[in-house]
Amino acid sequence: MYPLDDKLLAAVHALPKIELHRHLEGSLRLSTLVEIAREHGMEYDEASLRPFVQMMPEETRNAQHFLAKFLTLRQFYRSLDIIARVTREAVEDAALDNVQYMELRFTPKALCNFTQLPLHVAVELVCDTANEAALAYGIQVRYIISMNRNESVELGELALKAALQNTHRGVVGLDLAGDEANFSALPFRALFQKAKAEGLFITIHAGEWAGANSVWDAVGNLRADRVGHGIHVLEDPAMVNVLVEREIALEVCPTSNYLSGIVDHLEEHPLIELTRQQVLTTINTDDPSICNVTLSEEIARAIQYMSLTLEEVKSYTLRAARTAFLPRAEREALVRHFQGLLATV
Ligand SMILES: [Zn+2]
Repeated sequence: MYPLDDKLLAAVHALPKIELHRHLEGSLRLSTLVEIAREHGMEYDEASLRPFVQMMPEETRNAQHFLAKFLTLRQFYRSLDIIARVTREAVEDAALDNVQYMELRFTPKALCNFTQLPLHVAVELVCDTANEAALAYGIQVRYIISMNRNESVELGELALKAALQNTHRGVVGLDLAGDEANFSALPFRALFQKAKAEGLFITIHAGEWAGANSVWDAVGNLRADRVGHGIHVLEDPAMVNVLVEREIALEVCPTSNYLSGIVDHLEEHPLIELTRQQVLTTINTDDPSICNVTLSEEIARAIQYMSLTLEEVKSYTLRAARTAFLPRAEREALVRHFQGLLATV
């Protein structure tokens, strides 16, 4: 699927990068999953396990198949050790890809189904483990707590509480994910109001599997600071203007959109058009393991198949720094840091 030029990939790999939209539950190594399965008496190898956790080239690309991988991946969080291991490896994998600042999001409930941990303890475990790994690998990591719109608001409240209890560990934001086509974001409005009042940044998955109206719910009603995906906003020029005027960034994930059937061909992906219309766009992987993609590969594909240039990639990275969920002074320091790094490559 969309093979890459080796030299181009090496050039992108050498760039310091920022990832704003990556799900921990979509960032598990296949080799680790095989080991975990074997420890639980299931004899898989990478080839036989792969179709259950990764979109395959011959597979019908749609939301149902894509989300089914998540359901399988959530079966793997069987113990505290496993949660710690996959967290550590997710940070390590990002660092090895030369990602130097990452906002990692996760759904605490997904980590607690088997372990029965209270949500705030799961958040504590992920943050402590990732912070330790971040220090070891020289990458800066912050955390966004996700909840699903197809689950209850009461569960969302518990997730928010767990987020607020862990801001000192690096939790900076709250996210709404899940089935956008069939579930409104509006029942979560009060909860996101509270999150904002408490100082958390807000990002909402919207305009991915639903249209521009869904982006309005995210920005107008839930006061999102950034929008996950948001690519269907192009259907409504007035909504595009809202994003531009309010400087709401989109966390765009092209390979994920291709694999979940939102675009038929990567060449037709609206990333470049959104940027041309002055929307603050950033490039992200969403789920590296489900999509079998690194951030370097994601960016290299945008260059090879979507007419982005290597020089333009730097402006995408600086936009990501400017829209990072950090307090103003830290955000400005991050921008300056990346300006310095990018000036030398
Ligand atoms: Zn996502």
